[in-house]
Amino acid sequence: MKKSEEIIKTGENYFLNTYNRYPVVLDHGEGVYLYDIEGKRYLDFFAGIAVYALGHGNREFNEALKGQIDRLLHTSNLFYNEPASKAAEVFCRASGMDRVFFTNSGTEAIEGAIKTARKYAYLKDGGTDHEIISMEHSFHGRSMGALSVTGNPHYREAFGPDIGNIRFASFNDLDSVRKLVNDKTCAIIMETVQGEGGVYPADPDFLKEVRKLCDERDILLILDEIQCGMGRTGSLFAWQSYGVKPDVMTSAKALGCGVPVGAFAMTAKVADHSLVPGDHGSTYGGNPFAATAVLAVFEQYEKLGIVDHVREVAPLLEQALDELKASHACIVDRRGKGLLQALELDRPVAGVIADAREEGLLLISAGANTLRFVPPLTIGREDIQEMKKRLDKVLGKS
Ligand SMILES: *Cc1c(COP(=O)(O)O)cnc(C)c1O
Repeated sequence: MKKSEEIIKTGENYFLNTYNRYPVVLDHGEGVYLYDIEGKRYLDFFAGIAVYALGHGNREFNEALKGQIDRLLHTSNLFYNEPASKAAEVFCRASGMDRVFFTNSGTEAIEGAIKTARKYAYLKDGGTDHEIISMEHSFHGRSMGALSVTGNPHYREAFGPDIGNIRFASFNDLDSVRKLVNDKTCAIIMETVQGEGGVYPADPDFLKEVRKLCDERDILLILDEIQCGMGRTGSLFAWQSYGVKPDVMTSAKALGCGVPVGAFAMTAKVADHSLVPGDHGSTYGGNPFAATAVLAVFEQYEKLGIVDHVREVAPLLEQALDELKASHACIVDRRGKGLLQALELDRPVAGVIADAREEGLLLISAGANTLRFVPPLTIGREDIQEMKKRLDKVLGKS
């Protein structure tokens, strides 16, 4: 038996059966390429689901992590440590937010954002029945709170009751939002660019009008930047390119570039009128190791000019995908922002993803009929051409 078959079999015997895993055992990576345990090389347009922004094997990032491992891994948030204080400063300066709480995942960042909004409203009127408006086709995570605001009924159905008082509007449809707003509304939550739900950027006018609506009624605007943030769309956070600032925002995925860390952050006004000591906590959240990752990520972004690079190469990716669309009738749409792109097909994409893998190209879906392209942000012109060549071959077969 091949070693990979053995590893897959062991996993299948013991993992809880919650994933349809691909039959590939990944072993190591280099730049925008990944290698499986048998040595097969894959061009990585998947990046661990939009996580590996720096590509694989960034030496300085890795050295920073190793250094912190030998110094101190964990302290508890009841103490201060240098990486955490610095990471908080760097995150706030970069985002324009005033206060941040580090979490271990995106879903926990959403939990924190929801608790912040409910507490903010509670302090105003003492009510405990406030409502949150979320968007259809959104994705915010798998814990009960995050799941409750996730606009995919299929994910929620078996796990009711949800946290309650969640209303769903249609994304980019202002009237549908207006209709749901009332005196109990404490927050409107959305991804600035919907990822999982099919890669749909917010309309600039929609986002501006929602911001206005929130201002008029003192409703908190929560922008989920877990997937679209950290430079992926051509600004450090996608909302920065819209000229709309959230009251609360979430981050994760590329924030740690592989180290599990997330964040929710807010303006001073919200911070001063919401969570206080005892309201929220996390044993691991933002521990010295995770905080070192955040710091090292921001350092590498600065040094490598990641955000500028995204602005440079994103049009090349768009062009390559448009060319694929022009030559394959099965492609019905190309959409996205920056290096968060999608091709929608007139059929399910599972077969295409499997064939692409055979061709040494890793892709992920965003809904049954949509291919998602979330490469490392370090991707170059040649890598985009290589992806196009391989995908062209795969689509030619189907
Ligand atoms: C991935 C994702 C989450 C959940 O993050 P986890 O780290 O998997 O918990 C939430 N929101 C968005 C937009 C995401 O893409």
